[in-house]
Amino acid sequence: MDFQLSEEQRLLQQTVREFADRECKPLAAQWDRDARVPDDDVVRKMLGMGLVGMCLPQQYGGGGQDLLTAIICIEQLARISPLCAAPVFESNVGPVRVIEHFGTPEQRQRFIPRVCRGEMQISVGMTEAEAGSALTDLRTRAVKVDGGWRLSGRKVFCTGGGHSEAYMVYCRFNDVAGAKGIGALVVEKGTPGFSFGKQEQFMGMRGFPSCDLIFEDCLIPDENLVVAAGGFGSLMQCFDVERCGNATMALGIATGALEVAAAYAMERQTFKKPIAERQAIQMMIADMATRVDAARLLVYRAAVGSQSGFPSIRESSMAKVFANETAKAVTDMAMEILGGYGYTAEFPIERMLRDSRGWPLAGGTLQIQKILIAATVFGRTFDQRK
Ligand SMILES: Cc1cc2nc3c(=O)[nH]c(=O)nc-3n(C[C@H](O)[C@H](O)[C@H](O)COP(=O)(O)OP(=O)(O)OC[C@H]3O[C@@H](n4cnc5c(N)ncnc54)[C@H](O)[C@@H]3O)c2cc1C
Repeated sequence: MDFQLSEEQRLLQQTVREFADRECKPLAAQWDRDARVPDDDVVRKMLGMGLVGMCLPQQYGGGGQDLLTAIICIEQLARISPLCAAPVFESNVGPVRVIEHFGTPEQRQRFIPRVCRGEMQISVGMTEAEAGSALTDLRTRAVKVDGGWRLSGRKVFCTGGGHSEAYMVYCRFNDVAGAKGIGALVVEKGTPGFSFGKQEQFMGMRGFPSCDLIFEDCLIPDENLVVAAGGFGSLMQCFDVERCGNATMALGIATGALEVAAAYAMERQTFKKPIAERQAIQMMIADMATRVDAARLLVYRAAVGSQSGFPSIRESSMAKVFANETAKAVTDMAMEILGGYGYTAEFPIERMLRDSRGWPLAGGTLQIQKILIAATVFGRTFDQRK
């Protein structure tokens, strides 16, 4: 097994790390305070570096890179703040990948180049008030009419809601209950009958827009059908790419918190000695570093495993669970190490701790991921409805 990154990957990792330190670090606290998306100037620079759409096919303006290379970049940005990793996340592991894999050639041509040029972000609308973990209970309905579909329903917690130009909307195309009736339409902002609810006020992940998507008898043209009824399995398979991205956001947070805590421990003196000299602190730092490395190995394994198509459900779920739990534990230990200062907004740890609580909820809860992992261990699925 080869654990080495290629020379190009190492160089890119270093370049993105320096970029994140130089361009994002000075602004991250402000973005969080103001709950706003990163400055256009920073996003333009990421576009210039080829990070936006770096995994998308070259024929549509993407970089044609593999998933691992994008994961390495997302990790370096999320080390400072997941918010500054968002444009790289969305354009490489987000629902645009559904269009890449399952869209028609016309859809790929229509959407992917705009994503690669930074002109369009695509968000995913799956969750409904009565269909979160029980996603296949979703009720948003597409009814066939001449030339398209009439879409009605309401989605909740859509990250990017209101901000993104397009939405991959999971909906039900017929009366067949459960997964079989579900597919997805892409809906553009501005479509008559499509509106947004109020923006959520989250504990963390501030600056990530999030709101309900409201569809009132919207006419969606036939050419916006991306996945027909019966394609729920394909949607979930592709969502494992996003789960790897989610795990990487958590890994980045944990890495950042470890770096801040280690630097602080070498500086901060108590009883005339740096606290790094104390075994109690060393034990925590060793624990944090071990967990971060283990999370990184799981995330990289899942990404490398996707070379043949999609990451496996087992590897992406394990990566997500472990990285999500690592980010929670490591930011908590970092706060211990910083003492009272860690609890103030002067240091990034309180922001990282708040951010670490969001990723385990987004993209499927830890409990649901563990049910999926257990199914691969037992070699059978567990119907949650029986
Ligand atoms: C920050 C954030 C970003 C998000 N982004 C998006 C997005 O972009 N698009 C989108 O569509 N959705 C998004 N979501 C929604 C997210 O996917 C759901 O919140 C999540 O799937 C859980 O659904 P729920 O909130 O309805 O919780 P519920 O399903 O009500 O679950 C409540 C609790 O019960 C547990 N539970 C439920 N069923 C079982 C079971 N069978 N066995 C054991 N435990 C169970 C859960 O694990 C959880 O602990 C986001 C959520 C957050 C917080």
